[in-house]
Amino acid sequence: MNIVWFKRDLRLRDHAPLCEALAGEERVLLVYIFEPSVQAYPDWSWRHAQFQYFSIQAMNKDLEKYSAKVHIFFGEARDIFAHLHTEFGLKGVYSHQETGNKLTYDRDIALASFFKAEGITWHETPAQGVQRGRQDRQGWSEAWERDMQAPLQNPDLGKLQPLEFEVPVDFWATYKHQKKFKEYPKQFQPAGEEKAWQCLKTFANKRIPNYLKHLSEAEASRHFCSRLSPYLAWGNISTRQVYQYCQNKSEKTASKRNVEAFLARLRWRSHFIQKFEMEERYEFEHLNKGYATLEQPLNLAYLDAWKQGKTGFPIVDASMRCVIATGYLNFRMRAMLVSFLTHVLWQPWQSGVHHLAKYFLDYETGIHYCQFQMQAGVLGTNTIRIYNPVKQSQEQDEKGTFIRQWLPELAHLPTALLHKPWEMTAMEQEMYHCRLGIEYPLPIVELKPAMQKASQILWSFRKLPEVLQENKRILHRHIEHSVKDEQE
Ligand SMILES: Cc1cc2nc3c(=O)[nH]c(=O)nc-3n(C[C@H](O)[C@H](O)[C@H](O)COP(=O)(O)OP(=O)(O)OC[C@H]3O[C@@H](n4cnc5c(N)ncnc54)[C@H](O)[C@@H]3O)c2cc1C
Repeated sequence: MNIVWFKRDLRLRDHAPLCEALAGEERVLLVYIFEPSVQAYPDWSWRHAQFQYFSIQAMNKDLEKYSAKVHIFFGEARDIFAHLHTEFGLKGVYSHQETGNKLTYDRDIALASFFKAEGITWHETPAQGVQRGRQDRQGWSEAWERDMQAPLQNPDLGKLQPLEFEVPVDFWATYKHQKKFKEYPKQFQPAGEEKAWQCLKTFANKRIPNYLKHLSEAEASRHFCSRLSPYLAWGNISTRQVYQYCQNKSEKTASKRNVEAFLARLRWRSHFIQKFEMEERYEFEHLNKGYATLEQPLNLAYLDAWKQGKTGFPIVDASMRCVIATGYLNFRMRAMLVSFLTHVLWQPWQSGVHHLAKYFLDYETGIHYCQFQMQAGVLGTNTIRIYNPVKQSQEQDEKGTFIRQWLPELAHLPTALLHKPWEMTAMEQEMYHCRLGIEYPLPIVELKPAMQKASQILWSFRKLPEVLQENKRILHRHIEHSVKDEQE
């Protein structure tokens, strides 16, 4: 018996492990594992599990015609593989390589030893354009391009053989009755391969001509960006499938600029995951070790206000409340939230990184930790961007549509005041039914001095010899000569 172990690749097409397993003579069991240890990790949230569960339900619907299904287990991976080995005598396990957090990294190392000891071959296939075992980036882009242009790996599902198999009660029974699995929450992007393709097709055939124009706008970006991120993060669609479809289709519908900008972001995606694959310690600490002495004392009141969307800065609060409700924000609003936390409130990036990881439906370790540090201005290799929330509000939510939607307490304010409610007079507060400090908070910090302080300290760090030395190391290890580290 061979196992196909689905991880962040919840689809049935362009799936090399499935192709390879089905090409052999052995019977194949399809497996997904919800692991208690993963759920206890601080970046985990129910919305991720719901997206995974409903993606698998969609796969199982497609598999009905082959009398097959993905069997869902709840338990630690090692226990489950040990059980399956005793039951069936496993020959091979087929899966994609995973660039996950420290927990899944350690789990995979332990599993590799277990498989080896038991004589089970683990066939791991590269995923998402990431190249395992690299020491530097020379030739990375070319290899990535080849990977994106390679033929799709579509399995012959007709080769699946019906199996008389039920997941043992101990491994699933209590978990499957979770209320969270009864119905998929409507406020999140719907899960599954078919939904991913619908999203890709509307983007590549209709929405892409307006992509760059609305990329950073708080509200319009929700309609004109691709919105493929959760599908790519949980593997409802592969980067290669998106790349090839867009290359073929979009060039007929959109200008070269829009298509190129989008395809570049697919490359950035792999670039960030590659970086994490090669130096995973920065899940916890600064990638640039020169920032180890940066002091940002925790202020729990600030942190709480940021987490709840109650800082008194409307675009910041609207963004936070929006991501809590919907799981999505565009790049600029994510960057601004992090800048506000780490610059204006002067809090360490570690204090907010899990909070947003939990709320992002598209949480992807490789992108998330690197972007957090980049936006916090502690990489040393990129320009420091300290976003002014008032300017962002005026530019990216000019008419206040986004703020009015997520902060109903400000809905009656005229647009000019919406960006700076603290300028309301007592009479205006009465008129617009919004008393400062009661219906909506006063700003928790004074903006200008806070931004100045952050700028002064961060720029002074840029000159430290240990930061400069680390810059060299980072550039050598993570950046190809011709390519700069990416941000918008
Ligand atoms: C602090 C912070 C944390 C982030 N965390 C995540 C995360 O956990 N998961 C995640 O997928 N993205 C993350 N991003 C990157 C980016 O914001 C999202 O990928 C993007 O907003 C998703 O929307 P979209 O699919 O409509 O993107 P589009 O603009 O349509 O881009 C297409 C795809 O390219 C990739 N992409 C786009 N922008 C970037 C970028 N700047 N860096 C790397 N890849 C990119 C994504 O896979 C995206 O789906 C983060 C950004 C910041 C600033």
